[in-house]
Amino acid sequence: SRKISRRVQRIESSATLKMADLAKELRRQGEDVISLGVGEPDFDTPRNIKKCSKEALDSGFVHYTDSKGIPELRELLSEKLGRENNIDIESDEIILTPGAKFAIFLACQTLLEDGDKALLFDPSWVSYKESVKMTGAGIEWCSMNNELRPSVEEYKDILESTDISLVVLNSPCNPTGQVYSEGEIRELVEIALDNDAYVLSDEIYEKIIYDREHYSPSADYEDVITINGFSKTYSMTGWRLGYIVADEELINQFIKIQQHSVSCPTSFAQKGALCALNDPVSDEIVGEMVGRFKGRRDMLVDGLNSFSDVECVTPEGAFYAFPDVGRDSDVVAEQLLRECHVVVTPGSAFGEDCKNNIRISYARSEERIKEALERMEKIFD
Ligand code: PLP
Repeated sequence: SRKISRRVQRIESSATLKMADLAKELRRQGEDVISLGVGEPDFDTPRNIKKCSKEALDSGFVHYTDSKGIPELRELLSEKLGRENNIDIESDEIILTPGAKFAIFLACQTLLEDGDKALLFDPSWVSYKESVKMTGAGIEWCSMNNELRPSVEEYKDILESTDISLVVLNSPCNPTGQVYSEGEIRELVEIALDNDAYVLSDEIYEKIIYDREHYSPSADYEDVITINGFSKTYSMTGWRLGYIVADEELINQFIKIQQHSVSCPTSFAQKGALCALNDPVSDEIVGEMVGRFKGRRDMLVDGLNSFSDVECVTPEGAFYAFPDVGRDSDVVAEQLLRECHVVVTPGSAFGEDCKNNIRISYARSEERIKEALERMEKIFD
């Protein structure tokens, strides 16, 4: 008989769809809608990266690659991970995937099944939850404190009282913009490992960080799986290129799913990524981009905190602010859209605990952020 699997029925489609529809409708009516809901840089992919990819296309580099990704790129990544992250691994312990999102999917599919449990922080990025649910596993939520950082007591209680198979850490964090110190991360990882959980460390925003140091727990701990990618650092969201780093035993399991689902990441996208890592110009461009983000962050956070009913903790990384707006953020988000024509994401998209927060992306031009703040005066005091 015809049916949709329970596994897929359990998955929620994007929580922000209703808002996106409303925004589209407003645009159709000719309104100037400012979108601060997006999770991607507004900058173009650096030209040098595009050039390498174009050359690869023109030279006929258009076929399947090694399912783990081209060896030169994995070699460069293993050097990068050693140099920048203190992670000492072989190039065979990396799989390039079509986006970091797929790397997370691979890890969840491999490490979780019916009856298992994963620990996620509330709030956390929308796709962790669904990626876990797709395996049949359940979720234990751990709150954040008032500074939007993990509540260690609660975290420890959960891990000691529940059989948790996987913990997902994300620093710099989407949606909070918080960056955890080496000490904080070590504590969280040690508690997880002491309780036989794997740790998935999503470091996709590692380079988008302001006056803080990024720490990769894989540098010091086994059984930590590192996720990263090119989307955010190099403005390459549409290229779909991410990677997963783990010991060989795990990699040999992850790769089975990649081989039978997507085969390999796109050939010429990988050639572009070679240049992202190889060409010193890329680092300069990333540095400039991060400088711009920082200026926008300051502008946005100052603007938000000038409203008496809004309280915004200063984000230390990524390109999101996560202010408390003092009332139901589903209502506020709808009001912002209808009355100010500004799109933001309500906290309810990221968990249960942050009903009074909204996520505002500042990966938009300075002019647009300024304009959005001016429009917000309509609904905030
Ligand atoms: N992890 C986090 C925390 C993200 O915010 C995103 C993108 O929004 C991703 C992973 C996925 O990135 P990719 O484009 O590489 O799939």
